[in-house]
Amino acid sequence: MSKRIMLPATLPAEITCPICDGNKCKVCDKTGAIKLKVDARVPIQRADIVKYIVENLSTISREISRMYNLTPQIGTSEIVDTEHGVYEVVQVSSVGGVCWIVWNTRELEPPMYYTDYQKLTKWKGGQSV
Ligand SMILES: [Zn+2]
Repeated sequence: MSKRIMLPATLPAEITCPICDGNKCKVCDKTGAIKLKVDARVPIQRADIVKYIVENLSTISREISRMYNLTPQIGTSEIVDTEHGVYEVVQVSSVGGVCWIVWNTRELEPPMYYTDYQKLTKWKGGQSV
């Protein structure tokens, strides 16, 4: 049982007459169809909306930034003190998921990028404090 979300229909629209199911009746003036000109809403399965977002993520992300001025949230997730240095784990959160950038705050070395939380956890586990 999937949840439905009511979204505005594109108007004007012509729908099959819901009274006679297209078989022509008095309500649809013997046409089998009804033209919608007033505000109407159509039910869309939530799963279809999520699927559309996932399949169009880069376009939708750009539109979210442009229209709502939203950007991914960026913040320090934690500080990991190791024998090789003190690392900051920066988490980048967006509608498309999260990723982490780990960088050594004391030594000059290339940052590490993680898109897999288990791999990040494994890296942390391999650090002796
Ligand atoms: Zn009808």
